Amino acid sequence: MSNILVLGGTTEASALAVLLAARGGDAVLSYAGRVASPRAQPIPVRVGGFGGVEGLALYLGDHGVTHLVDATHPFAARMSANAVLAADRAGVRHIALTRPPWSPVAGDRWTHVADIEAAVTALAGPSRRVMLALGRMQVDAFAAQPQHDYLLRFVDVPDHPPGLPRHHLVVDRGPFDLDGDLRLLEAHGIEVVVCKNAGGTGAQAKLGAARALGVPVIMIDRPALPARLEVHAAEDVLHWLDHGADLGV
Ligand code: NAP
Repeated sequence: MSNILVLGGTTEASALAVLLAARGGDAVLSYAGRVASPRAQPIPVRVGGFGGVEGLALYLGDHGVTHLVDATHPFAARMSANAVLAADRAGVRHIALTRPPWSPVAGDRWTHVADIEAAVTALAGPSRRVMLALGRMQVDAFAAQPQHDYLLRFVDVPDHPPGLPRHHLVVDRGPFDLDGDLRLLEAHGIEVVVCKNAGGTGAQAKLGAARALGVPVIMIDRPALPARLEVHAAEDVLHWLDHGADLGV
């Protein structure tokens, strides 16, 4: 009988939890604990880090986990690397449920950068109205470019005010739609959007809005991850659970 640990914090993980609840059997969803009130889930939830590769490998063994599904965000690089190593160490089957990255289409004005630091550097120059479509953990780095007016959108009200001298904060957890994001960008006179190449549909609307308004985007490319088995749909994880062993994956 399978015993599944899903590393979550994404809409994909929540979609998988619904399928696993309907399927029955043992499955737990793990959150890092970054969001104050995560969505209610139809399977049991645990919260908090495991303590690195070693901690996760111990957890897998102690809880008799047979299958580890990494459905974390594509930018959760440390967790994903730990998952590969811990699954290997504990002899547990492993798969990643992840979204394909976004690709530019006609009308997009993207500048690709490698990481947050490169995005900060790309904002050097005169004052502009910038939408920082990034989590609260990352925005403080932009204090190095204090000349801009920043529009921030967070899931929760932060414990401490963001360390940016000129900013406006919107608290909203999405998913976002094109009309809403068009209105938001127009209302704040946004001249450039900074975001991570998360992929998926929940956060895509800002790209459509930027395209429609001719606003350039500084696109932070994905971090490198170790080689692993990857699927893009929650249904494919069920197929792997039921038939992966026969297929040798
Ligand atoms: P990260 O830098 O890769 O992970 C840092 C540490 O947080 C990990 O080493 C692990 O601690 C703990 N951790 C991360 N995800 C966890 C999970 N699902 N369950 C238990 N512990 C977890 O990750 P991050 O970028 O901070 O992301 C944290 C969470 O937010 C993830 O659940 C991710 O899916 C979600 N998220 C991230 C982003 C993003 O842009 N990075 C966006 C949306 C949602 P230990 O080493 O102690 O085990």
